[in-house]
Amino acid sequence: MTESLRGTNCRGNPRPVISISGVRGVIGESLTPEVIARFAASFGTYLEGGKVVVGRDTRLSGEMAKYAVFSGLLSAGCDIIDLGIVPTPTVQLLTERLKADGGMVITASHNPPEYNGLKFISSDGAFLNSSRMKKLLAIYTQNKIKYPSFNKATKIKECHQQAINFHLKKTLSFLNLNLIRKKRFYVALDCCDGAGSVITPLLLKKLGCRISVINDKLDRVFSRPPEPIPENLSGLCNLVKKTKADVGFAVDPDADRLAIISDKGKPIGEDYSLALVTQFILSKKKGLVVANLSTSQLMDDVTREFRCPLFRSRVGEINVVEEMKKRKAIIGGEGNGGIIFPPLHYGRDSLIGMGLILQYLAQSGKSVSQLAEELPSYYMMKKKIPLPKQGAKKSIAKVKKYFCREKIDLLDGIRVTGENWWIHLRPSGTEPIIRLIIEAKTKKEAEKLHKTVSKLIIR
Ligand code: MG
Repeated sequence: MTESLRGTNCRGNPRPVISISGVRGVIGESLTPEVIARFAASFGTYLEGGKVVVGRDTRLSGEMAKYAVFSGLLSAGCDIIDLGIVPTPTVQLLTERLKADGGMVITASHNPPEYNGLKFISSDGAFLNSSRMKKLLAIYTQNKIKYPSFNKATKIKECHQQAINFHLKKTLSFLNLNLIRKKRFYVALDCCDGAGSVITPLLLKKLGCRISVINDKLDRVFSRPPEPIPENLSGLCNLVKKTKADVGFAVDPDADRLAIISDKGKPIGEDYSLALVTQFILSKKKGLVVANLSTSQLMDDVTREFRCPLFRSRVGEINVVEEMKKRKAIIGGEGNGGIIFPPLHYGRDSLIGMGLILQYLAQSGKSVSQLAEELPSYYMMKKKIPLPKQGAKKSIAKVKKYFCREKIDLLDGIRVTGENWWIHLRPSGTEPIIRLIIEAKTKKEAEKLHKTVSKLIIR
């Protein structure tokens, strides 16, 4: 399914990339208003009309894309609830809350500003899974869009403020407000000029925090590269140091991923966001945990500490969610800063992540740097290798043969787990590349593993 629309169409125009995470493309090239409207109409057909909740991030193409989505949905006979600029998790939460038939988010998540994309949500607030995505794609590719007759009335209802209020209220309901408020934490915040720019400061103020915010404008090209990885967060690190903040929080443009800067002004690494939240949740109540196969072995360490089982899922939010539902996990997510807290909803949510981290700081009386230092440290290496499709299978087979004495998992590409190290090799869902992630105790060990694996990859 992933690669089904890759390449060019009959006129030689590039096509958007489609994966389990939705549709992504460069605006004006692979993602035009026509393509967006057709996808929206296909989704409307898939839902057989009904009510659809729509939200978007702050990309400058967002307004254009919104009207293309509206046009497509209305043409397929859907009513629309327009949330305006809100985080992806807000759309997920409101789709469920408003008992809508589905939801759509216009966002390219952490991709550069020239991109935009579409995410599709089921009535339960989780993304479409692979079989549902296949049905949607079949409508799109086989041109099976159904347009109702001219006399079907449709409507658009705006619901921005109520959506923000509901997400805030629901998030706060899971937190010990008195405990957090008493601490009067100083929080430095980097919203990436994204959809979290309005709601996140509101949440932190409700938690009694004093805040300093950067990159919170809704009408400009992102001031920093959008992925919340350490090399893109120097501005926030400086802000933490300058203001002597207790913690720094950074999100991506659609505010589902959370990265943390320590009180010393250092990025602790995205994998620590989920590891610390998991540690906090398990310290209160034991239960099962799910993380994807590309997430740090920190998760093994944390779950082992509390003698709780950890299950690994395929990469992709909906894959983690389905595994969590199946196993009745109490917490889970992805190492890229994606925290999924089921009592709130089944989606990655940076807001609940911030709340839980602040409560952990308040309850433990420890600083972020202390909590991070108490966990083991690893060196993680992430590589993208351009590769023909047939090369991925052969490379995986060679890696499997070479590491036959180690623990092998073939659920999603190949994951080899050794003593204090692991490698995960998988074809990307969104690009013609293979992703290689290696984690080991030291940089030297990771580099040695990288050298070994590189020789096994067929280009
Ligand atoms: Mg995102």
